[in-house]
Amino acid sequence: MKQTKFIFVTGGVLSSLGKGLSSASMGALLESRGLTVANLKMDPYINVDPGTMSPYQHGEVYVTDDGAETDLDLGHYERFTNQTCHKASNFTTGKVYEAVITKERRGEYLGRTVQVIPHITNEIKNRILRVADEKIDVVIVEVGGTVGDIESLPFLEAIRQLKYDLGADNCLFAHVTLVPFIKTADELKTKPTQHSVKELRSIGIQPDLLLARSDRALPNEIKQKIALFCNVPAGSVVSAPDVDCIYRLPLVFHDEGLDDLLSKKLNIWARHPDLSVWADIVDRFKNTEREATIGIVGKYVHLIESYKSLNEALVHGGMTHRARVNLKYISSDELEEGKLEAIEGCDAILVPGGFGERGSEGKISAVRYARENKIPYLGICLGMQMAVVEFARNVLNLEKANSREFDSETPHPVIDLMEAQKEITEKGGTMRLGKYPCIIKPGSLAHRIYDAEEIEERHRHRYEVNSDYVEQMAAAGLRAMGMSPNGALCETVELDDHPWFFGCQFHPEYKSRPTRPHPVFVAFVRAALEHRRGKDEVLEQNDSEGEAELAGAILQAPPGGVSPES
Ligand code: GLN
Repeated sequence: MKQTKFIFVTGGVLSSLGKGLSSASMGALLESRGLTVANLKMDPYINVDPGTMSPYQHGEVYVTDDGAETDLDLGHYERFTNQTCHKASNFTTGKVYEAVITKERRGEYLGRTVQVIPHITNEIKNRILRVADEKIDVVIVEVGGTVGDIESLPFLEAIRQLKYDLGADNCLFAHVTLVPFIKTADELKTKPTQHSVKELRSIGIQPDLLLARSDRALPNEIKQKIALFCNVPAGSVVSAPDVDCIYRLPLVFHDEGLDDLLSKKLNIWARHPDLSVWADIVDRFKNTEREATIGIVGKYVHLIESYKSLNEALVHGGMTHRARVNLKYISSDELEEGKLEAIEGCDAILVPGGFGERGSEGKISAVRYARENKIPYLGICLGMQMAVVEFARNVLNLEKANSREFDSETPHPVIDLMEAQKEITEKGGTMRLGKYPCIIKPGSLAHRIYDAEEIEERHRHRYEVNSDYVEQMAAAGLRAMGMSPNGALCETVELDDHPWFFGCQFHPEYKSRPTRPHPVFVAFVRAALEHRRGKDEVLEQNDSEGEAELAGAILQAPPGGVSPES
């Protein structure tokens, strides 16, 4: 049987050094050499999962096909590799303790004293080993937090032990650290790295290689100095400078010899890497031929970490068309009271997912603006729900229509909790989480976007479009064109007589990869570009007929597939 190899990635000095991106890039490099990888993230906090954590605290909650609410690093893993993460790809201290305490209550420890070592560390080790099935050549395990934190000690102890359990040839410790440039001294400083490695060695872990983050490439003498003080060969200090595009990282690491180092140290035979796909992605990102500005109206706009996958999906959509996508974050609070200046110049408007009432009226105003002014609109989850509420209020004249989430007394709960949802979600959960199928009606915008009649997308929501209103809405022009297979739940809506207006109850952004840009974002960016082109032409011609002609051209535009020329 094949022995799976393990790379353990720890972080030193401070957080936000890009450990997740480094782990994801290692996955990309190993895949480019023909290996099969799986990534795993261990988080030291005590929450059982990040599902209930505020986006301000933790950034985006990433959702897997199998319905796990996870750390956003899993999004990086999926975007950089071909793997599909799952429930076991992320666990926290809380989850580990929950499992151990449950076993203790069941008497599984036969009356022994239950301790951090060995019970907690064994539970951690088992969860790491569980990810390594026969198909996987290398598991890349990222330890959350920073070395020196009290919280991450059991994880570090577990990986220290694993090297003995599995053999030195099968395990590699990579430490991501910081080499700051101090302006006043005009020097790169190695001391923080020295201290961080000392800390790691004091708990029994000698790193095999160091990924040195800095704002510039490390000169050789600095690498040698780090090597000397940290007890690693100079060739094992890899420079990880800041990059203009995250998808350049696999290329930068390859130039530093990282994939060779990994294969040699883990003693795996692997073919010569083919990185042409990453070179193409970076080229599309850098060498753009057109641009569009997309207004994103949300509540968490001050912390764009909360919209990580969304940002990336829009970038992927842009790359497809060789377009630069300027993302303009607009706080929904500011749109409240009808102050719409912020969205007026945008070529398209997007309202992303969200929870809670704050800002919802601002989002509704944004939808109204997009609908009435025929600006391309994409509503994701809450963004689709707000589009339905807006339509009910302003087109169907259902006064005080709302989502039950925000107004339990509304006379027109056009968004509500649905019995049909309860029937299809796993028992216990109140949220629809993970992958669900959706059937698309031929001839619809949804069908043009996907070019398919059955799709699967990831969900994370409690409320649904109220089926009592679906017919009435359709008669007035807002149509449900994607439905759950039993026809009970509305998955997508679209508007008649509008160049591009699409709402989806699911989150397409979770499935977009630079290597496979998601059709919804490809089509949405394309609609934004067409809108922009229309505006530019109108400006040039300075006559109103031009606009009418162009509106016709947009309506007849071919399906929103990949079309870099448009
Ligand atoms: N709050 C809404 C719901 O629970 C939307 C959730 C979301 O946008 N992810 O249905």
